[in-house]
Amino acid sequence: MAEVLVLVDHAQGVVKKPAAEMLTIARRLGEPTAVFIGPGAETAKDLLARYGAEKIISVSDPSVTEYLVAPQAEILAQLVEAGDVAAVLIPSNPAGKEIAARLAVKTGSGLITDAVDVQSGDDGKAVTTQSVFAGSWTVKSRVTTGAAIITVKPNSAAPEQASGAGAYEELTPEISDAAKAAKITASEPKKASGRPELTEAAIVVSGGRGTGGDFSPVEGFADSLGAAVGASRAAVDAGWYPHTSQVGQTGKQVSPQLYVAAGISGAIQHRAGMQTSKTIVAVNKDEEAPIFELVDFGVVGDLFQVLPQATEAVKGKKG
Ligand code: FAD
Repeated sequence: MAEVLVLVDHAQGVVKKPAAEMLTIARRLGEPTAVFIGPGAETAKDLLARYGAEKIISVSDPSVTEYLVAPQAEILAQLVEAGDVAAVLIPSNPAGKEIAARLAVKTGSGLITDAVDVQSGDDGKAVTTQSVFAGSWTVKSRVTTGAAIITVKPNSAAPEQASGAGAYEELTPEISDAAKAAKITASEPKKASGRPELTEAAIVVSGGRGTGGDFSPVEGFADSLGAAVGASRAAVDAGWYPHTSQVGQTGKQVSPQLYVAAGISGAIQHRAGMQTSKTIVAVNKDEEAPIFELVDFGVVGDLFQVLPQATEAVKGKKG
């Protein structure tokens, strides 16, 4: 069976949820090999095997991680050229998309970005689903040349455990001088908010202009659910919430299991960032608000009354 390479998404060695999601997807297409670049693979190997990794390739050589993404693309290209590789799955974040593009050029393979689902077609090859043109079209695509290089958005699959052999190997790659042309001179981790990462969270609660700048009911409800907090552009432009929390066409694209929009009208540019969420709930005091056209559940009401009640109800259920 052909190999499917999964570039493991991790933060300082701590494996992130999308890695388990991508290993789950990889099993639909062939034998998963987890490629772990940076320190920490030794500690992560049991977890990766639990999600079906047959092989774990660790690249901990510091001469790789002290540069920007070009060396990572070279490592993946060497692996694609050395083996029988059906697909390479890469996290769909800015670094991942740059790695994928460089890899596609190096290997002459087709590239698909921002997949929200990947299934095995009749011939066993990858068929992806993408949501395009501000979420107004759903497209199915497949790579016709070379190993399928696919960047996969977080929450594209529910992680399923399956024991893999987890055969561990350390690789010391040859990195060209050209790939070392841009070096990291300093890096500082983002201050932890205690909430999950917006693009990876299973639940996102977002607030808009309807909050009037008071995000406390939105944050309170989010915390009761263990959710990330998002915001509309109107809210971030007003300086009520950081730009890094903006959801939409010019903000972050999220695809959680549950998306709650509070005091957000549902402009097309906002929808573009959250339309692929599995379940959508809106709280809006205007029953004519366009957001109600795409929701699974809608509450017509004042968010300052609805969200605190919902928060109490969730806390009550948790006991
Ligand atoms: P509004 O449209 O003003 O809606 C506020 C809603 O809150 C209303 O429906 C109102 O009924 C409701 N409300 C008011 N008070 C309450 C209350 N107490 N309780 C409950 N409901 C209440 N927008 C984005 O979000 N993300 C983007 O990435 C983005 N990119 C853009 C790119 C371009 C090129 C352009 C032109 C626009 C972009 N926008 C984006 C802006 C977008 O068009 C809208 O202006 C914006 O999404 C509106 O934000 P909002 O829904 O919070 O505000």
